[in-house]
Amino acid sequence: MGADCLFCRIVAGEIPATIVKETATTLAFRDIGPKAPVHVLVIPKEHYADVATLGQGDPGLAGEVLATAAAVAEDEGLTGDGFRVMFNTGPYGGQEVFHVHAHLLGGAPLGPMLARDLV
Ligand code: AMP
Ligand code: ZN
Repeated sequence: MGADCLFCRIVAGEIPATIVKETATTLAFRDIGPKAPVHVLVIPKEHYADVATLGQGDPGLAGEVLATAAAVAEDEGLTGDGFRVMFNTGPYGGQEVFHVHAHLLGGAPLGPMLARDLV
């Protein structure tokens, strides 16, 4: 992966992004279409398609993604009121970019977990 993957290209510096945190293995940048006052995407620099392949392929790296998400939540002042971390996965999960990313959302009450009940 690389040339064909939008988020690999952000890691490579080929596409601009508003980076809020970088570690040796992870990158956090603002979502281009924010759905909350704070909407940051946290990715591993290494390409994994989704949270399932990351979680099973490199659980340590998955933990580093969560640690970066927690650090950004702290930096953005979200820890007191709370926030949400989501990994959309596959078609039913609504995933559009197939480089795993945690959505870190906060800065306002986020409402119910899903827009509507499905059962
Ligand atoms: P998902 O539907 O979970 O795959 O989320 C993909 C997210 O990537 C969406 O929230 C988009 O707004 C966001 N996105 C797409 N292109 C960019 C970009 N160039 N920079 C930052 N965020 C982006
Ligand atoms: Zn990628």
